[in-house]
Amino acid sequence: MPSGLTEAKAALLAASRVAVLAGAGLSAASGIPTFRGQGGLWRPSETRTLFEGLRPESLATPEAYRRDPELVWTWYRQRFELAAQAEPNPAHYALAELQARVAECSLVTQNVDGLQQRAGARVLELHGNLTHSRCECCEHLGPLALGFAIPPYCSRCGHRARPNVVWFGELLPQAVWEEALAAFAQAEVALVVGTSGVVEPAASLARLAKDGGAFLIEVNPEATPLSHLADVTLRASAVEGLPPLLGKGHAAPNG
Ligand code: NAD
Ligand code: ZN
Repeated sequence: MPSGLTEAKAALLAASRVAVLAGAGLSAASGIPTFRGQGGLWRPSETRTLFEGLRPESLATPEAYRRDPELVWTWYRQRFELAAQAEPNPAHYALAELQARVAECSLVTQNVDGLQQRAGARVLELHGNLTHSRCECCEHLGPLALGFAIPPYCSRCGHRARPNVVWFGELLPQAVWEEALAAFAQAEVALVVGTSGVVEPAASLARLAKDGGAFLIEVNPEATPLSHLADVTLRASAVEGLPPLLGKGHAAPNG
């Protein structure tokens, strides 16, 4: 049993307020590539590129969308279709079960793929989602379907709609962010899983919890800028690390 698992499990079993920050690594086992880290699409030192030779900075920004909305939508449609055809993995289900069991358990996600929700969880989406478009005029959200026409138009007012995600340089949805802040400030245990911890302000949630006295657990196969803050780090993938950590039973005493 990895070192620290027993301690982390005991902290979780004793807690009535838990906050979780999830990142792209949570969905890696469902076949959705991360941007950074192990298996990531975004490695500056490598020649591998994300889409048609473009880097994400050239796609996930308001400037890119203004310059070439068709290209940006084509990238998002590809990502939406991958997510829509993927299935939640055991780590998604383990988090949904944790939420059902703990009195107050906030699942905050940077993921846009909708897989945590499809595993039955209530989720605070910091970066929006791939599953809907958002009207550029009235902000109406429209569900997307496989093979949708590019660009989609608003079913309410007819204007062009954009992807319902938060791009680099944009503000997070305020109400969601405030709820996430409150959850991490009050958490007895905070768990960060599958996030590189470099996208702000999301990563600051882990520091906030730690400053408030929370027991901080990280699950990630690689070290991150948050690792040194963690009380326990499980160097494991989400699928290897979460089910044993979050399962109901106590860890073996010699764990
Ligand atoms: P990131 O791509 O920056 O980092 C991924 C992290 O996951 C790395 O630290 C890596 O070591 C870790 N990882 C890789 N495989 C893992 C596994 N099997 N189990 C656990 N961890 C694993 O991701 P991020 O920190 O979430 O932030 C970047 C942004 O990327 C977010 O805004 C998010 O919206 C976007 N994104 C989302 C998805 C998704 O929704 N599935 C996919 C790619 C990128
Ligand atoms: Zn509209």
